[in-house]
Amino acid sequence: MGKVFAFHGGVHPPENKKQSTRTPIAQAPLPKMLYIPLQQHIGIAANPVVNVGDRVLKGQLIAEPVGRISASLHAPTSGIVRSIGPHPVPHASGLESDCITLETDGQDEWIEHQGLQDYTRLEPSVLIEHIRQCGIAGMGGAGFPTDVKLHLGDDHIVNTLIINAAECEPYITADDMLMRERAADILSGIRIISHLLRPSHIMIGIEDNKPQAIHALEAVLKGCELNIDIRVVPTKYPSGGERQLIQLLTGLEVPSGRIPADIGIVCQNVGTATAIHRAVHFGEPLISRIVTVTGDAVAKPQNFEALIGTPFADLLEAANLYEGRLFRLVMGGPMMGVTVAHDQIPVIKTTNCIIAASDEEMPQAPPEQPCIRCNMCEQVCPVTLLPQQLYWFSKGREFDKARNHNLFDCIECGACAYVCPSSIPLVQYYRFAKSEIRTEEAEQRKADHARQRFEARQARLEREQAEKEARRKARAEEAARAQQSRKNTEAEKAQSASDSAAPAASAAPDLKQLKTAAAVARTKLKKARDAFKNAEDKGLDGIDALRATLTDLEQKSEEAEQAFKAAEQAEAAAAAEKGVDLKQLKIDAAMARAAVTKLERALTKTEDEQARREMETELVEARKKSDALNQSLSEHSPA
Ligand code: SF4
Ligand code: SF4
Repeated sequence: MGKVFAFHGGVHPPENKKQSTRTPIAQAPLPKMLYIPLQQHIGIAANPVVNVGDRVLKGQLIAEPVGRISASLHAPTSGIVRSIGPHPVPHASGLESDCITLETDGQDEWIEHQGLQDYTRLEPSVLIEHIRQCGIAGMGGAGFPTDVKLHLGDDHIVNTLIINAAECEPYITADDMLMRERAADILSGIRIISHLLRPSHIMIGIEDNKPQAIHALEAVLKGCELNIDIRVVPTKYPSGGERQLIQLLTGLEVPSGRIPADIGIVCQNVGTATAIHRAVHFGEPLISRIVTVTGDAVAKPQNFEALIGTPFADLLEAANLYEGRLFRLVMGGPMMGVTVAHDQIPVIKTTNCIIAASDEEMPQAPPEQPCIRCNMCEQVCPVTLLPQQLYWFSKGREFDKARNHNLFDCIECGACAYVCPSSIPLVQYYRFAKSEIRTEEAEQRKADHARQRFEARQARLEREQAEKEARRKARAEEAARAQQSRKNTEAEKAQSASDSAAPAASAAPDLKQLKTAAAVARTKLKKARDAFKNAEDKGLDGIDALRATLTDLEQKSEEAEQAFKAAEQAEAAAAAEKGVDLKQLKIDAAMARAAVTKLERALTKTEDEQARREMETELVEARKKSDALNQSLSEHSPA
C-alpha cells in the first residue's frame, strides 16, 4: 500500500451500493430487439456497413469508425437488421439519434473469431489496430476510443499507468462486481496495456468501501511479474474522477486544458481492461457490458451482463420492476446521471447503471431559491472552481466570463449542487453554458469556414477574371500583329507588283503609236510612189534616187506594219489570258465585218489605180482582223 494524497473538496453522499452486490453478475435475457446507437463514444459517429434486411452474426462488424476519434460497432447477437434510423438514445438532451435496430433470432450465432496467438510478438501498431477493430471505448467515463489512448506517439512518455477502480458514484457497483468476479481478466488486460505503454509503475486506485474487490485483486496479483500497486483511497465522491484519482495517487494535478499523458500518466478503467483482454485473447469485440440495475422500484437490484443495445425496459423487467413504485428512471448514478423519460433507451458502451427510484428515494427537487452566497459549493468543488461565480455567469449568459473562470474544467460531478442549500441545479446551468459556448464555437467555425470559402471563391473569380483579361489582351495583340503582318505583306505585294509592272508597261508596245507609225509609213510610201511614177512618166532626172527612196520607204512601211500587227496580236493574247469580254468581242467582230464590207463596196466604186491598191491592202488587213475576231468569238462563245 503506497502513499495516498488528497484532493480538495468532495462529498459523502449515501452509498446505496449494498443493494446490488448481494447476488453475482447475472446474464441479462436476450431482448427481442436491440437498438445500437451509431454514436456511443466521444468523436465521430460510426458509419453503418449493413443494410436493412441483412442477417448478421454475433460479433460481426455493423458500423465502422469514421476518422481517428471514432469506434466501430458489432452485432451483439445474431439476427436481422430491421431499420437504421432515429431512436431514443442515452443522452441528456432526450433527443433521438440514429440506431441500428437488430431483431434477434435467439440463436446467438457467433461469427468466426479468434484471439491473437502471442500479442507480445506483434508490432504495437498491429495490436492497437486489433483493439480498434474490436470497437473498444472507455467504459468508465465518456467513452473515449481506447486505441487513441494507447497510441500516444513519441511526444508522450508514460511513466505511470493508473487503473481506475474507484467507483465513487452512489448506487453503481458494476466495476466492484467485475473486480470481485473477473479480477484475472482485469489483470490480463492490464498486462496488454502495460505491454503497449511500457510504464515504469502501475497503480490500481480503489476505494476502501470495496473490500471484496480489493481481496480479489490482491489474490490475482500474487506472483505477478508486473510492478503493480493497489492503492486504497478513502471513500469520497468524486475520487473516481480521472483527475481526482491521479491527484490522490500521485499528488500531481493535471494542468487546466491538458491531458494526463502530458504529465506522463495514462488512466484506464477496469471494465476497459477486461474488454481489451477479451478482444486480444478471444477476438471478441465489445458487445456487452456490466450494468447495475438498482433503486427502490426494482425487487431484485443486481448487476447484469447486458448486450449493447438492450432496452432499459428489458433490464428493469429482469430486475422485477414494481411499475407502481417507479417515480424516476435515472441513467448513471444519482450525482452525474440524468433522468430519462423513456424505457426503450438502450444500453451503450458507457452505461454503468440504471436507477429505478421511488418517490421517497429521489423526490422531486425542491424549487430553486436565490443564492445566499454561503460558499458551500466552493468548499466541495474537487476542481477548486468557483461554482457560485460560474452559476451567475451561466445564468446571465456571460459565457466569456464563465469560460475564463475555467467552466470547461468542471467535471459536472454535482458535488456543488448536492450541498447547495438553495437547491440550485448548478450542474444544469453549467451544462447549458457549455452547450451554448460549444454551439457558438461551432457556428463561429461554420462562419469562419464559410468566410474562408467565400474569400477563396472571390480570389478564384478574380484570378480567373485576370487570366481571362490576360488571354483577351494576348489575343488582341496577336490580332494586331497579324493585321500588321497582313498589311506589310499586301504592301510588299503591291510594291512587288508595282516594281514588276513598271518595266512591263515600259516594255509593252503602244498599239496606238504603232498604228500611227504604220499609217505615217504608208502615207510616205504612197507619196514616194506617186513621185516615182510621175518622174518615170515624165522621164525626169534622179529616178534612181527616187527608186532607192521608194525601196527604203517600202521596207520601213513593212516593218511598221509588222510591229503594229505583232503588238495587236500580243494585246489580244493578253486579253485572252485575262479572260475575254464576250460582249465586247462580239461588238469588235461585228465592227470588223462592217469595215470589210465597207472597204469591199468602196473598192468596187474606185477607179483610181493607186487608191484601189491602197484599198486592197486595207481590205486584206481588215479581213485578217475580222477573221481573227470571228475565230476568237467562236472559241469563247458558249457551246
Ligand atoms: S452553495 Fe448554493 S447558495 Fe451557496 S453559494 Fe453556492 S450556489 Fe450560492
Ligand atoms: S459540478 Fe463542477 S463546479 Fe460543481 S463541484 Fe463539480 S466540478 Fe465543481
